[in-house]
Amino acid sequence: MVHKTKELLKTFNSEQKIIEYTRKEESKSLFELFFETIPDATMVISHNEFELFNCNHEFELLTGYSKTELLGTPLKEISLFKINNLEKYFSEVLKGSQKPQSVSLELQLLDGSKYYGLISSAIILIDNTKYILSIIKNNTEQKVLENKLRHSEEMHRLLADNASDVIWIMDLTGAFSYISPSVEKLRGFTVEEIMNQTQEELLCPSSRIYLEKGLEASIYAVQNNLPFIKFRGDMEQPCKDGSTVWTDLSVSGIFDKNHQFKGLLGVSRDISERRAMENEIRRLTEIDSLTQLYNRFKSDTVLKAEIERTQRSSSIFSIIMLDIDNFKKVNDAYGHTAGDEVLKGIARIIRSNIRKIDTAARWGGEEILIIIPETDILGAQNLSEKLLLKISEHSFPDIGHITASFGAAEYENGITEAVLVSRADKAMYEAKDAGKNCVRVYQDKENMS
Ligand code: GH3
Ligand code: MG
Ligand code: MG
Repeated sequence: MVHKTKELLKTFNSEQKIIEYTRKEESKSLFELFFETIPDATMVISHNEFELFNCNHEFELLTGYSKTELLGTPLKEISLFKINNLEKYFSEVLKGSQKPQSVSLELQLLDGSKYYGLISSAIILIDNTKYILSIIKNNTEQKVLENKLRHSEEMHRLLADNASDVIWIMDLTGAFSYISPSVEKLRGFTVEEIMNQTQEELLCPSSRIYLEKGLEASIYAVQNNLPFIKFRGDMEQPCKDGSTVWTDLSVSGIFDKNHQFKGLLGVSRDISERRAMENEIRRLTEIDSLTQLYNRFKSDTVLKAEIERTQRSSSIFSIIMLDIDNFKKVNDAYGHTAGDEVLKGIARIIRSNIRKIDTAARWGGEEILIIIPETDILGAQNLSEKLLLKISEHSFPDIGHITASFGAAEYENGITEAVLVSRADKAMYEAKDAGKNCVRVYQDKENMS
């Protein structure tokens, strides 16, 4: 019985061994299966020399070497591994001080291309010996994207830093986070100085109102998830030397890929030359070149605007028409050039004796129209008398004294500018008829003074 039991025990023990062995083999092949199934390059290295003990097919594909070529080779001899501190990393892993987080890894592949990976490791026991199991995740795409992004950011920065336009980024409180260096050429202030400028120091008053309105609209749009309103306009900005510069400003919103508002992007372009040209064109189209008074085209516009303004605000205004007396004779006696000088001289006298808000224009050859806002017929008469005196008192070289005849009319609600001008004309001809060098005002046909 005892013997039988011993026999049985023997069999059992050997079965145990077989089971153990089978289990070991099973777990080994399970491990192999798991090892080969991992979609990332995986390696097992020894804990002392960091020799490659095992690797999967992905690892072979990654390195370009076959498993048989690699096994037993210390990692540092596989020249593909560029990371200098890889050994230090593994030592940390062994010490257990390396947190199970991934570490970046750079590989130089056999075809010369770069491979970026994230390596994560754990200690495993195989036949009671310590090994390090490392999985290398491909991070190349991400890294290439990052590099591209960094490159494109650098490119943008380079462009912004070297652009002749001023490029800037501002938040909705009006604080700058970037201003391109070209601002110094534009305004004379350094970037640092401008970063600390108040809205008052940044913009001239009329432009400030415009930007504030733009900012308000942007804040409203951002807070209410409405489409961002881009704004564009001419801005006048103070310069360090006390002058001002005109810029064409366009502002757009910066949004991230989640459509979150990140700030305002502005581009300010120096338009001083354009403004100067526009002013010159305006001057040429509005100013009479001989007398430097406004021309007839401009006086038409001013007259229309003044009628509109007067009707809107129920105020008053008047006009004066003056015609130089016996001008033909001046030309005949002293020549056309001398006549021109007389015209210029009279224009000068008129310009220096009217207010800024008044408009004097050359209506015809030697006829001048003066538009006088906020002035009734009496005021127009007084101004006419004053001008008559100034002109008649003036002595022109070689020619002597010249006179002019004046006709004044006050705007009557509802009449057209043509009617108003004809009334002043009529009064002026009354003055001619009355012997010239005098003033007549339009009242009514019957009551002309
Ligand atoms: P009246 O007192 O009735 O106004 O007599 P007048 O000689 O001034 O009469 P009229 O209006 O007929 O003549 C205007 C003259 O002004 C005719 C023209 O030769 C001259 N004239 C018009 N434009 C110019 C100009 O630009 N330069 C010069 N020198 N003469 C001009
Ligand atoms: Mg005349
Ligand atoms: Mg005339």
